[in-house]
Amino acid sequence: MAEHMTRDIPAPAVSLESKPFFDAAREGRFLVKRCQACGEVHWYPRPICPFCHSDRTVWEESPGTGVVYTFSVMRRSPTGPYAIGYVTLDEGVSLMTNFVDMAPEDLRIGMRVKVKFQPTEGGPPVPVFAPA
Ligand SMILES: [Zn+2]
Repeated sequence: MAEHMTRDIPAPAVSLESKPFFDAAREGRFLVKRCQACGEVHWYPRPICPFCHSDRTVWEESPGTGVVYTFSVMRRSPTGPYAIGYVTLDEGVSLMTNFVDMAPEDLRIGMRVKVKFQPTEGGPPVPVFAPA
């Protein structure tokens, strides 16, 4: 059986703007931002909507489900292979992430994935994606 990918992820820098996201992440909740003026979800979370420039953006809990849009497997790593790539959430936005809990050979474009949170050294957990 192929080994599952793991990777140590450095602690993210938490800003005033991203603090609500990481506070929720500590509770295992995945947040996205939705604009109340135009209704669009965007990523990464911003105080000003990138579509209509409204400041009426609010945090919204997402189930964190989506599909693999693209990925790249890094094999020359001292800790073993790992994969990064983009997930397109069911809300329609794409984010860059790490893929976990699967062998690199099993990763496919279009496969269903779901968010989970991986602890970091001295910081809040970060979202990664595993097979749904
Ligand atoms: Zn908007």
